[in-house]
Amino acid sequence: MDKAFQKVDAVVVGAGPCGLFQVFELGLLGINSILIDSLPQIGGQCSELYPDKPLYDMPGILVCTGKELADNIFQQIKPFKPQLKLDEEVTMVEKSGTGYKVITNKDSCFLTKTLFVAGGVGSFQPKKIVLKDIEQFENNWLHYKIQEKKNFLAKKLVIFGGGDSALDWAIEFASSSDFQNSGGSVTLVHRSATFRGAEHSVDKMKKLVNSNQLQLIEFGQLKSFNCESDSLNSIVISIQNKEISIDADQLLVFFGLSAKLGPIANWGLDITKKSIHVNPENCQTNQKGIYAIGDIAKYPGKKKLILSGCHEAAMAAFAAKAIIEPGKKVHVQYTTTSTKLQERLGVLKK
Ligand SMILES: Cc1cc2nc3c(=O)[nH]c(=O)nc-3n(C[C@H](O)[C@H](O)[C@H](O)COP(=O)(O)OP(=O)(O)OC[C@H]3O[C@@H](n4cnc5c(N)ncnc54)[C@H](O)[C@@H]3O)c2cc1C
Repeated sequence: MDKAFQKVDAVVVGAGPCGLFQVFELGLLGINSILIDSLPQIGGQCSELYPDKPLYDMPGILVCTGKELADNIFQQIKPFKPQLKLDEEVTMVEKSGTGYKVITNKDSCFLTKTLFVAGGVGSFQPKKIVLKDIEQFENNWLHYKIQEKKNFLAKKLVIFGGGDSALDWAIEFASSSDFQNSGGSVTLVHRSATFRGAEHSVDKMKKLVNSNQLQLIEFGQLKSFNCESDSLNSIVISIQNKEISIDADQLLVFFGLSAKLGPIANWGLDITKKSIHVNPENCQTNQKGIYAIGDIAKYPGKKKLILSGCHEAAMAAFAAKAIIEPGKKVHVQYTTTSTKLQERLGVLKK
């Protein structure tokens, strides 16, 4: 049976900082957009990889965290009322007449005049621990990310990994008075004695080990687990040629993330090493009306910075306007002085 396609002017794939800003630039030109992301939250890498870390290179913002940046851009695009689809992956893009059919894994179907691919490095998947039957305990006592720190109060935590995330969280819990006062304990297990994380984090972690606030097991790997009616009691760690058993309630695993370009690779775009080649004058790909911006876009001199992606969003929006409203002259206008732009932003004082 034929699917019902919603006819739209613009679809933006990816709600990272650049995809969000694409909605803003389109909105300024009077173009409404659909914004789709496979993650359950907005912000792309900013929210997924460094929500609490500070950024210092946004014009006019001295410092803000990754999450604050994403939240602020989201506030900025609210006047344009984008139709937001989170936790939904765009799986198919297919030429149809002068536009494109866009279909998601949840069967949302759009017929769009223009498409903006702001897919970053693709969709993120945490690298999982490989051990028989352990996957069924994910989000019970096995975690690959932390949503609520307070859920771990009073727990015997074991953190696996040797990179920044493992170190940051081990330090965070071991130096938190709330956590220590609750009776919680934390053990860091790494498969070698060389840590990939920042040097100052390794130093901090070792200080916490010396003051007995953190236990460290080097050359350790999870061998097996012992649980009773879904609750974890203990785990067995193999350390080179021996095995030890330690009490544990919750396991946090930070083996890093792998990014998969996923379905974007099948949309007929000119791709090399997970990047889409674009014309640097307007960010159009090899397909008319499909633009790529942000980390995924490639052209000579490309810098993978949020700043560059926002500039690309402006160029792509102007190019798309010519497709959506052919023949109409579009001038650059300033938000400071243009009443039309202020009307669109909903800030015009009557
Ligand atoms: C630790 C760290 C610190 C950083 N610090 C800075 C900094 O200080 N300054 C700076 O400028 N940059 C910094 N960056 C880089 C910056 O985060 C990226 O340049 C930026 O996130 C790129 O934004 P984007 O919107 O292009 O892509 P992303 O942020 O990667 O977002 C892409 C989104 O597309 C979604 N997606 C992909 N495929 C699909 C699909 N088929 N369907 C639906 N959704 C899809 C993904 O789920 C993702 O949410 C940092 C990066 C890291 C990792």
